[in-house]
Amino acid sequence: MAGSEEEKTVFDMEAASALVKELRDTCASGKTRSYEWRVTQLKCLVKLCDENEKEIADALRQDLSKPEFESIVYEIAMLKNSCRVALKELKHWIVPEKANTPLAVFPASAGILSEPLGVVLIISAWNYPFLLSLDPLVGAIAAGNAMVLKPSEIAPATSSLLAKLVMKYLDNSSIRVIEGSVAETSALLEQKWDKIFYTGNGRVARIVMTAAAKHLTPVLLELGGKSPVVIDAGINIQVATRRIIAGKWGCNNGQACISPDYIITTKDYASKLVDTLKIELERFYGKNPLESKGLSRIVNSNHFARLTKLLDEDKVSGKIVYGGERDKENLKIAPTILLDVPLDSLIMNEEIFGPLLPIILVNKIEESFDLINAGSKPLAAYLFTNNKKLKEHFVMSVSAGGIVINDTTVHLAVHTLPFGGVGESGMGAYHGKFSFDAFSHKKAVLYRGFAGDVAIRYPPYTPGKLRIM
Ligand code: NAD
Repeated sequence: MAGSEEEKTVFDMEAASALVKELRDTCASGKTRSYEWRVTQLKCLVKLCDENEKEIADALRQDLSKPEFESIVYEIAMLKNSCRVALKELKHWIVPEKANTPLAVFPASAGILSEPLGVVLIISAWNYPFLLSLDPLVGAIAAGNAMVLKPSEIAPATSSLLAKLVMKYLDNSSIRVIEGSVAETSALLEQKWDKIFYTGNGRVARIVMTAAAKHLTPVLLELGGKSPVVIDAGINIQVATRRIIAGKWGCNNGQACISPDYIITTKDYASKLVDTLKIELERFYGKNPLESKGLSRIVNSNHFARLTKLLDEDKVSGKIVYGGERDKENLKIAPTILLDVPLDSLIMNEEIFGPLLPIILVNKIEESFDLINAGSKPLAAYLFTNNKKLKEHFVMSVSAGGIVINDTTVHLAVHTLPFGGVGESGMGAYHGKFSFDAFSHKKAVLYRGFAGDVAIRYPPYTPGKLRIM
């Protein structure tokens, strides 16, 4: 895609088909299966990060005005950590798992072998365009696959940097980047893959799944949703609000899949919550947050228009209790809190994915559970409380990709937990060993000798044989 008009080569169906064939040939050679190849590629990924930290942070600043701290910690360090975990654990992950065998097949031994799937396609989104592109690669490499990465065209600086860096640091006979948007992705989706890993919205996920169905290709869908935060009374409100701010505005200004989407609290507790949020927000972003260097901008004018439409709807007029300022020219929207928002408003009926935070009021905190379960299953659900019974009830009765009690978003960094959605928020999971598993086939292998051959198995099937059973 990149380059001047003359040098632009079209990435069409023919090119996509040739690319997949080339990668299949590499796979067939057995190169990507070797432990050494996997380890070398993972080490090269770490090197890619170490030697290009500034360039990566610059690209993220161009695409999103992402603060350098967020780029280094949430994109680069997170990726390096995934690589470190895989490098440390891979020798254990690849060992076939022993399985017990029943008497019926005695004598026998059995195992589960993690086999590479083959050639996989990874399509990523714009909001964490570095991490979301390369983190799935870690699992695909660890599991011994060849792969194509299609980064998001909505973060063009990061997309072109990824193409350049992957070409320079990784093995191009098995790992490739194709830049582009709908046309290029459609050409890729026409091909037969052994798995498609897609991060993005549910509308495109349906296109991906339809294309995959044609070839019976399995998909892993990392989607979004409206992740709620339930706030009970009697908590350490300062710590709670800071953790909400860090997960909402401190994560790409709310443009993160697991950012708090809305809050539910009781009518009695709302003013304390709002007052504390206002104090802490001002402490972090100053009196004029539009000028703050600690907040990402909105990614583009389409998303800016989408978010301002949510704010300007009649149903929420008069509900803004903090923020609301915007700067169309620089695509900035200040942290904004809306109180007592009606459930039938636009803002409560789509994923916000931005710096707006509506608060829903209930009489009793337990009402929040039914309210959450009445909607689509979110990617994350958060509860702040000291009440043990409430915690248990929440964990048992709210369905979400993941749940965190007394914090937001930090489960993403726990590599021993699967990260993924349920229902509308996605299918499948990754991170740590789950990434390796996501890109492996669990092959059942049973070994038998020639002893223990019983006549009962073979005809004639006389009634006497049944009685022995
Ligand atoms: P996006 O616009 O970058 O789209 C994602 C990918 O789909 C891109 O690579 C894009 O080129 C491709 N695409 C777009 N239209 C297509 C089409 N018609 N056919 C084929 N491919 C197409 O990103 P987005 O969808 O705006 O991302 C935001 C959404 O992603 C939110 O819902 C968010 O919650 C979710 N998300 C989820 C995770 C997660 O890990 N679960 C992470 C980040 C974002």
